[in-house]
Amino acid sequence: MRALTVAPGIANSAGIEDVPEPPPSDGAVLVRSLALGVCGTDREIVAGLYGWAPPGRKRLVIGHESLGTVQDAPVNSSFKRGDLVVGIVRRPDPVPCPCCAAGEWDMCRNGRYTERGIKERDGYGSEFFRIEPEFLVKLDPSLGVNGVLVEPTSIVAKAWDHTERIGRRSRVWAPKTLLVTGAGPIGLLAAMIGAQRGLDVHILDHNDRGPKRQIVRDLGATFHVGELADMAIMQPDILMECTGVPGVVRDTLGHTAAAGIVCLLGVSAPGHDLDLDIGGLNRTMVLDNDAVFGAVNANRQHYEDAVIALQRADQRWLDSLITRRVPAEQWTQALVPQKGDIKVVVDFS
Ligand code: BGC
Repeated sequence: MRALTVAPGIANSAGIEDVPEPPPSDGAVLVRSLALGVCGTDREIVAGLYGWAPPGRKRLVIGHESLGTVQDAPVNSSFKRGDLVVGIVRRPDPVPCPCCAAGEWDMCRNGRYTERGIKERDGYGSEFFRIEPEFLVKLDPSLGVNGVLVEPTSIVAKAWDHTERIGRRSRVWAPKTLLVTGAGPIGLLAAMIGAQRGLDVHILDHNDRGPKRQIVRDLGATFHVGELADMAIMQPDILMECTGVPGVVRDTLGHTAAAGIVCLLGVSAPGHDLDLDIGGLNRTMVLDNDAVFGAVNANRQHYEDAVIALQRADQRWLDSLITRRVPAEQWTQALVPQKGDIKVVVDFS
């Protein structure tokens, strides 16, 4: 079968190759791929900056934003042929740490977790993949190809889960405003959940090209262009940082209203020293009870929350996030950013 592969650590090694059928050791359910979303992590892996091949191998089957239909499942499982499904990315570490042992692999304490398509396990970028039923999520068929947004939505569902847990440190916490930095897929999906919570949603992006302004407007949110530092007047209760750009990350700190929460979702490259008045920042954060935290990955509950959030959304709005579809044979084109791109999807159908 055809698979999208890469040699982690080696830049521009991405290709398409014939690989054996997925081994039964990957799981009892056989899934036929329909679509695969591409994100910044995939671009980093293809650039040789991130990612790990399975032990003893040089190449990794890439892809962690899956969507497929069940081809074959054990009779005693809760899946049957034709079900629309998405695979969970992370697997618990083998120790396991207390979090992984409790099903909270997204909170792994020892870093020995594995991730399909990213860290030491083949991903979902092949015509077929196998998976354990307990790491498979069933979708309502009405979601159709928008189901490919479940994995990125699971990331923001976790961010919301943790933001709201932190918020509950005050018994009367009632956030009103949300500011999201970065109108990429993660930023827009975080904003979508904020809008579903009834918040006054603002999204800041560095440019005004392409369809983003209209997409933000269609959500009932406000689009801003420029620098966060120039938005001093707006002090959101919640700020979700979705760019990973070091200067933007710095500017988010201390930028909220009192008792504000900053959630960092973008992963930055190391090696950026920036000016920061740490004394002034500390003073603001302590005197205002501000919180800053990072969030990565998602556990099963977050995938289920993501499915609910996507089902509640306007399906035409979700359609507008998928701006480009690339046939599997030409998948490396999906990695080359094009004007107007939001979510680019590799088409296996
Ligand atoms: C994926 C997460 C993963 C993270 C770090 C993200 O792109 O969506 O599932 O944990 O990369 O590898």
